[in-house]
Amino acid sequence: MPALGLGRDLAIDLGTANVLVYARGRGVVVDEPAVVALDAMSGRMVAVGGEAKAMMGRTPPRLRTIRPMRAGVITDFETTERLIRYLMKKAHGGLAKPRLVVAVPSGLTGVERRAVRDACFQAGARDVYLLEEPLAAAIGAGLPVHEPIGSMVVDVGGGTTETAVISLGGMVTVSATRVGGNDLDDTIQSYIKKEYALAIGETTAERLKIAVASAFPQMEETKAEVRGSDLVTGLPRTVLVDSSELRRATDEPVRQILETVKASLDGCPPELAGDVMDNGIIVTGGGALLTGLDELIRHETGMPVHMCEDPLRTVVAGAGLCVEEFDTVRSVLTEASR
Ligand code: ADP
Ligand code: MG
Repeated sequence: MPALGLGRDLAIDLGTANVLVYARGRGVVVDEPAVVALDAMSGRMVAVGGEAKAMMGRTPPRLRTIRPMRAGVITDFETTERLIRYLMKKAHGGLAKPRLVVAVPSGLTGVERRAVRDACFQAGARDVYLLEEPLAAAIGAGLPVHEPIGSMVVDVGGGTTETAVISLGGMVTVSATRVGGNDLDDTIQSYIKKEYALAIGETTAERLKIAVASAFPQMEETKAEVRGSDLVTGLPRTVLVDSSELRRATDEPVRQILETVKASLDGCPPELAGDVMDNGIIVTGGGALLTGLDELIRHETGMPVHMCEDPLRTVVAGAGLCVEEFDTVRSVLTEASR
């Protein structure tokens, strides 16, 4: 008979943009946007994940959509707890009290880490282990984290960018900023508002970013039509936007992401810097899918840059591996006591 509780271990990537759950022995069982829709009157959770994201910017006054984790930090504790409860239920049918490995941003303060831990315990977890996100990403990317070799990983999420140089199971240098892919959406929204007197929603701004924006000039620049509401007349209107103007519009957050990468390289001891020069910088996270971001990092650091195969799932894959090989990787996990 298999050990009881074996199937109860879960790994969670509690991202700003997406939440993913990995169940031991089963793989990724939940992959949803980190959005919750609430009934403003009763406080009841009406929808979670993709269904809630589809409601964003389209709700009647009675409903409210929220992203409970802004910039990788729990901004809405109660909703986060309910979200974790929902995720555990979805993964298990709500039967077990699982042991959780939760990937958290490395830049969290002690208070913020406790908030994550508390939310997990209150949602019904039996044990909670926190795993620094850059470590999870490096493990998920298959880097030799336990060896005396420097591996550098950059994870651009929705609200955070984290970068670290890892050797012998630990982070030697780490730098993080509370800027990520969603900040580009915000700057695109403000730009369209200022330049064209047109209001567009968050979802439209994200779509525009994915389709047209780029961090580095491309051989073929693209254009797209965007629909919004005219700020003066209030009527729907369409404008044509191209990639070079969006590159200018998003320059600020892109620079901040780049500075974070450079800071991590700067603090790197020479032996490890040599390893990074040989093996390159591994970039992951959904934000890294921004067209040309890898080229920009290559251009500005002079290092080889490699994109992860499945950037939206690297962190959960790494945390998942920890759940599969719990006893051998215990050293990289921090146990959170009640
Ligand atoms: P988190 O870990 O914070 O939840 P993710 O790693 O899931 O973040 O990445 C989400 C971010 O990636 C969002 O800002 C999203 O807009 C962005 N993103 C996803 N796909 C693309 C793409 N093809 N091009 C540019 N940005 C993308
Ligand atoms: Mg992430």
